[in-house]
Formats: sequence, C-alpha cells, structure tokens
Amino acid sequence: MAENDLRAVAFPKLDDAQIAALERCVGVSMKRYLAGEKLFEVGDRDFKFFVIKSGEVEILDESGEMPKTITIHRPGEFTGDVAHLTGRPSVVSAVARVDCEVYEVSAEGVREVLNRCPDLGDIILQAFIARRQLLRESGDFTGLRVIGSRYSQDTFRIRDFLAKNRVLFTWLDLEADPQVNQLLKQFGFTEADTPVVAWGRKLILRNPSNRELAEALGLRRPLERAVYDLVVVGAGPAGLAAAVYGASEGLSTLVLERTAPGGQAGRTMRIENYLGFPTGISGGELAERAVLQANKFGACLPVATPVTGLTFDSAYPVLHLDGGETVTAKCLLISTGADYRMLGVEGCARFEGCGVYYAATPNEAQLCHGADVVVVGGGNSAGQAAVFLAGHARKVYLVIRGDNLYKDMSAYLARRVEETPNIEVLLDTEVRRLSGNSHLSSVEVVNNKTGEVRTIACPALFSFIGAVPWSDWLPPEIEKDAKNFVRTGPALAQSPHWTLRRQPFLLETSRPGVFAAGDVRSGSVKRVASAVGEGAMAVMFVHEYLKDM
Ligand SMILES: Cc1cc2nc3c(=O)[nH]c(=O)nc-3n(C[C@H](O)[C@H](O)[C@H](O)COP(=O)(O)OP(=O)(O)OC[C@H]3O[C@@H](n4cnc5c(N)ncnc54)[C@H](O)[C@@H]3O)c2cc1C
Repeated sequence: MAENDLRAVAFPKLDDAQIAALERCVGVSMKRYLAGEKLFEVGDRDFKFFVIKSGEVEILDESGEMPKTITIHRPGEFTGDVAHLTGRPSVVSAVARVDCEVYEVSAEGVREVLNRCPDLGDIILQAFIARRQLLRESGDFTGLRVIGSRYSQDTFRIRDFLAKNRVLFTWLDLEADPQVNQLLKQFGFTEADTPVVAWGRKLILRNPSNRELAEALGLRRPLERAVYDLVVVGAGPAGLAAAVYGASEGLSTLVLERTAPGGQAGRTMRIENYLGFPTGISGGELAERAVLQANKFGACLPVATPVTGLTFDSAYPVLHLDGGETVTAKCLLISTGADYRMLGVEGCARFEGCGVYYAATPNEAQLCHGADVVVVGGGNSAGQAAVFLAGHARKVYLVIRGDNLYKDMSAYLARRVEETPNIEVLLDTEVRRLSGNSHLSSVEVVNNKTGEVRTIACPALFSFIGAVPWSDWLPPEIEKDAKNFVRTGPALAQSPHWTLRRQPFLLETSRPGVFAAGDVRSGSVKRVASAVGEGAMAVMFVHEYLKDM
C-alpha cells in the first residue's frame, strides 16, 4: 500500500453515526483534559482508548533522548494501536495540546466495540494495524533500545526474541554506533555490562533473560484461570489457527508459547504458496495478524512460557510451565511443531547466535551486509533464505548434499535460485568445519563426489536441515512414531493408554481429549496451510469431545 493510502487507513475520522454507535457501547464515558495533561504514557499498561470530541491530542515518541511528535489527533479521530488487543504496554504517549473533551473507552470496552460494532470495529482495527506498520517502516521511531555487540550471543538472542515478537526496537551496535559509549555512561554502565535494553528512562535492563524481557514488556502475564476449555501448546500456524477458532467459538482458550508466535513460519520473509496471498506474505506479518485475531476473540497468549511437562489429574491434562506453575486443560492441543537440527560439525554450537543462524529475516540480514554467506539445505526454507539473503549479502553459497536442486525444492523457487546472479549452488557438498575466534569467520565445505575442499570466508552460516519434532516434554501416554512425531487417529484405539469405547478422532492422540496438529504430528504435511487446516479441524474434535464429557 502506498504511504498516503496507509496514512488514510491509519488516521481516519469517525462520522457522527459512528460516534453515536460508540456511545452506545459499555465502558464508554466522557472526560475532560486540560492543555498539557497526559492521557497516557509510553510504558502504561491497560491504557484507555480515546476518541476526540473537541480539542487536539498530540501523540509522542518518548522512547529516545528527545520527544518526537508522531501525529496530532483532532475531533473525530482516535488514539490507540494494537497494544489494546495484545495487552502490551503503550509504545507512545498522548498529551492534550489544548483543553480537550474526549470519549474514554476502557481496555475491556475496546474489545467490546470491536466485537459488537463490526463496521466501526473494522475501521479501528485496520487503523491499529496500519499505525504499527507506519511506525515499523518509518525508520525514525526509537522504541526499545538494545545496546550490544554484533558478535555477542546474548545481544543476538535479545534482538531475535524482540524481532520474533514484533516488538519495535532500535539496535545500537557496540562495534559501529558512535553514540553507544555516551549512552551507556548516562545509564551508569560500561561496555562490559552489555547487552543493555532501555525503554526511555523508565525501563533499563542488563542482559535480561527472555522471560524477564517478556514480563517487563507485558508479553508474559499471570494466567487468569486455573482451568481452560482448551489449552494449546505452541503458537505456530497450527496453534494460532486453533486459538482463533477455539476463542471465536466460545471456548476459554489459552496458548502457551516458548519463544514467539509464528513458529517456523516466523523465520521466513516470503511465504508464497499460502492461499490468498498471491504476492506472498512474511511469516512474521501472518503471525502478527493471527495473534490480533485470537486476542480479539478473547484468547490468552502468554509468550516466553515453555511447557516443560504433562501429567494427568483424573481425566484432565495438567501442563507444567517453567517456574513451577501448572494449568489444567479440559482439552489439550499439542502443536509444538519441529525445529532445525544443529549441523553435526565442529564448531557449530560455539557459533550459534554469533555466526550460525536458523532463520533469515531482516534481523539476521543486518549482520551480513555486503559479505559472503553460506546457506545449508535443499528444501524450500533454504531456497527462500538464499533468495532473501541475496538481496543483502555480496554472494550466497547454497550448500546441498544431493545432486539436484529440484529434488526437494518447489520448482518456482529452484528457478528463482538459478536466476539470482549472486547465488552459487554447490551440489553434492557438505559443511566440514566452522572456524573463527569470538565469531564465525570461515566455513570449510567438501564436495563428496570430487573430494574438492573449499574454504569460504564468511561471517554467517544459515542452516535449514533435518527438522526434529518438539515432543520430548510429552509422557509415554502420548504415543510417538520412531522419529518422535506424535501419533494420532483411529488406529490408536489399540493403544494401552486409550480408555474409551469409541475410536480416537482423526487428530486425537493415544490419550482421550489430547489432540495434535501441524508439523509435530506423525504423517503431517509440513506446510503452513496444512498446519492451519489441522489447527482449525482440531477445534471441531474438541467440541465433539466436550459434548460427551
Ligand atoms: C524458513 C522456513 C520457511 C518456510 N516456508 C514455507 C512456505 O513458504 N510455505 C509453507 O507452506 N511452509 C513453509 N515452511 C514450513 C512451515 O513454516 C511449517 O510447516 C509450519 O510453520 C508448521 O506449523 P506448526 O504450527 O505445526 O509448527 P511450528 O511452526 O514449528 O510452531 C511450533 C511452535 O511451538 C513452540 N513450542 C515448541 N515447544 C514448545 C513447548 N514445550 N512449550 C511451548 N511452546 C513450544 C515453538 O516455539 C513454535 O513457536 C517453512 C519453514 C521454515 C523453517
């Protein structure tokens, strides 16, 4: 969308009929603010939503050193962004420029407006999404500041966590940014304290864990109940689809996610074969939209909440979270997907986060501008990564063990790889050794047919080989196949763990009321569309199961 069109969607003016519809909703009241008074501040949680009746409200970015005006809302316009739905803190501040009269809507009221007044709700939701996109693309918005070295594993972990969770942030590279030392001094830190995360002056954290970050940013919040109709473990495409269908159909729905919504799909910049997106969509954007949709219907999605174990209390599954919390599910959906295997070569573990990466997004691309990089793998994920990175790196070496680019890669993608001038495909080739000191500096590859060895000087290797299911947290009652994928379907009626007279539903595991969907399921098609389809289908079986309880 052109920037002008996007701005029109982001900053609409409500007409009298729309404002009258808003006034009829629960949780709406009239308020007055004097010139200079703040309506809300950056970092505020559960902040209110305002429609301007008279006067002007200025929206400010106060996350950097100097406040910057983002926009000024006038009568008929409204404040707010996606944080109203996700429950995250506000990323901006709002101040009355002159004496103002506003309609004030509570945090709960916003969801009511979106669900009860579909026409008005669509305008507001589209504006929220467009505002985030404008901020993301402006290049001028500070957001969180991450100060750390490009060669630090913790700096990469923090950047990766924030990027996957679509948190707006600016990275200040210790190696390249001249402001860094001055800024660290102001915070009372030295280089040795990095990585440091700062949000204005309100929040300053020294090398926080993902959980600490998630709690500080409102991504992980205390659970609201002890028992849910449906608990979904894993917020990839399958889990997110189940959250949207479950919550929209009235089930109390909780989604527990280890790192960030989107799963494997969140690691790619271009999904071109998902129905309805002819020009492709990035996995991050798809996930962000799905999270909003799930939140709109009332699903709860705490992030940085890994599930460490599963037990059973009578018939009910009980999920054990890191930190000792438990939560009970009437029905459970396992949608923990799969993850790429570490390359079994010397040096791999040492360079994870400082040279070895498992995703190719702008976050990783920033680290290899103008350099040579190596991508390992022959599937679509490796092909997509190679094409994307070719737009940033000087040259991409695509290392494939097999002898044919078209064997495991979709034809459209293999053709694109061949047509990209700065990608060199190395067939019959394997990685033998990774070398470097504090970070990766070269990769040694060997041609298995000719025995030729090459050393490629490069700061980054991207690995997309051999997905392994995330199923090690499951107890023996949940049967798995020889490769640890979760088994489902009628054949499990023979399982010693199956206790009912009826046969298991198509996506039901060996334990009644426990379902599996997406890549973690034995025999699944490893695609976004099939994961989404299975997630949606699982909810239908959940209803069937609950009916008989
Ligand atoms: C780089 C790349 C590009 C791809 N491109 C395409 C494409 O163009 N088209 C296409 O159709 N498919 C593509 N795929 C495949 C597609 O992304 C997957 O098939 C799909 O994401 C599977 O969805 P899922 O929900 O089953 O699992 P996943 O996407 O793997 O998500 C599982 C989620 O569960 C979480 N999790 C795991 N264990 C736990 C735990 N114990 N507690 C809490 N959470 C946990 C993980 O963090 C993850 O977020 C691509 C995959 C990759 C890696």
